[in-house]
Amino acid sequence: MQGIGDWASHRAQLSGDKVAFVSGDRSWTYREFDDRTNRLANQLRDRLGIRRGDRIAAVIPTSVDCLEILFAAAKLGAIFTPINVRLAAPEIGYVLADLGADLLFVHAAFTQAREAVNEPGVCVREIIALGDEYDALLSTADPTPVTSMTDRHDVAVIMYTSGTTGRPKGAMITHENLRANAAAVVSAFGLRSCDVTVTALPMFHIGGLGLYTLPFIYMGGRNVIMPSFDPVAVLDAVVAERATQLLLVPTMWQAIMDVPDLESYDLSSLECALTSGAPAPASVLDFLARSGIPFREGFGMTECSPSVALLDSEYVREKAGSIGRPLFGIETRLVDELDRDVPVGTVGELLVRADNVFAGYWMRPDETARALRDGWFHTGDMGFSDEEGFLTLVDRKKDMLISGGENVYSREVELAISRMPEIRDVAVVGAAHEKWGETPVAFVVLKEGESATADEVIAFTRQRLAGFKTPTRVEFIETLPTTATGKIQKNALRDRLLGGSH
Ligand code: ATP
Ligand code: MG
Repeated sequence: MQGIGDWASHRAQLSGDKVAFVSGDRSWTYREFDDRTNRLANQLRDRLGIRRGDRIAAVIPTSVDCLEILFAAAKLGAIFTPINVRLAAPEIGYVLADLGADLLFVHAAFTQAREAVNEPGVCVREIIALGDEYDALLSTADPTPVTSMTDRHDVAVIMYTSGTTGRPKGAMITHENLRANAAAVVSAFGLRSCDVTVTALPMFHIGGLGLYTLPFIYMGGRNVIMPSFDPVAVLDAVVAERATQLLLVPTMWQAIMDVPDLESYDLSSLECALTSGAPAPASVLDFLARSGIPFREGFGMTECSPSVALLDSEYVREKAGSIGRPLFGIETRLVDELDRDVPVGTVGELLVRADNVFAGYWMRPDETARALRDGWFHTGDMGFSDEEGFLTLVDRKKDMLISGGENVYSREVELAISRMPEIRDVAVVGAAHEKWGETPVAFVVLKEGESATADEVIAFTRQRLAGFKTPTRVEFIETLPTTATGKIQKNALRDRLLGGSH
């Protein structure tokens, strides 16, 4: 098989009558899915002039349509980019221009997408609306099977990174990257064709697309797709479909924990609950441990399509705080500033080498050269390994600060502060300091009805951490600025400090 487009045809041959997707009250068998991707591919080629290497973008909800567009594009060797639906028109315009998108799929719910095509540099030739226009395109289409016209090293998806540390970058993910990731996930999770998952993560992030959805198609499982995240709807779907696997990011697990009558849901079908995408707060890990559902923590990133490491249920207690070991077939190293391996227990930058490591950043040769050196992807994540190869992350390179010559990992300080019972959420950033160079500043969100003073937070932290790690200032705020998957945008907090708005 050359490309992921072939997965659809092979699945149709092997498991044609099996339900591949459920969404609302509709379901799609693997045969129907393949038929629809063939129809769409024929229309894209014959009516819309799409050729190998062309870019198709979409601002649409998480849906089966999204997968149909991906697979139809893949059959033609065209590249698919699902765009974050939360972005404003100029931000979408930036992505469309950066991508040189030829075609754009939109959904009526996201009106800003149509405005975005008027932004400078956008050269979209045609816009197709989901709903009637899309349905008409498929119903009038030629159903002749389309044989995949790709090389496995062609780019299948350009996925923009979450933009946690700056402007999102387009990661070029090849067909081979997606296959390697699917193979690694299927083997690490022991996925079987009788498995059922509920997808509530947005497909415009690699977590929603690459982590479970594509591996489920690869091995022929069933995927229940939610157009957006609603904790009660997710719980209802798990119960109704007897889901066996559930992947959510930590903020989504927090919303599940807050569902008032959580105990009334029969979640006994779940064989694995996975948290991934961002550091899981202690409250989420405690909740999962108490729930009795076997759970794992996954670690990955857009550039790795996305899988890197996994902490398996059997180790969650013994290796608490670790993100586990690399999945089968994935090599990792920890290095110092000069790319020399650091000893066990010493913090270094995490490097990854594997078939699921991306081909570079779209149109950013300098950033690609910086990130991909000597065959190793430099992740920008800092961590250490123990004797058995379990990795623990300490921080992103960009979020570390140096106070009086000592390294301070913002995440360590956050973990200490988050143990304070009154606190719901906390983020720590470095602020310039005359004497120490930099010192930690904590942004704290209190639990509803709770109160605490800056001095109390500082005293609580000082009991647990060295003086140089203790915040010199505490700011109380309503909510922390986050990305669509709930990652804290520390740049926004740093800007706040510079702007003096407190
Ligand atoms: P950008 O690269 O645009 O700044 P981003 O790095 O957040 O954004 P993603 O590729 O979506 O974009 O996220 C990958 C990053 O998320 C990893 O590099 C890591 O820092 C963090 N991450 C993912 N999973 C975990 C986890 N289980 N624990 C801690 N951090 C995690
Ligand atoms: Mg990143």
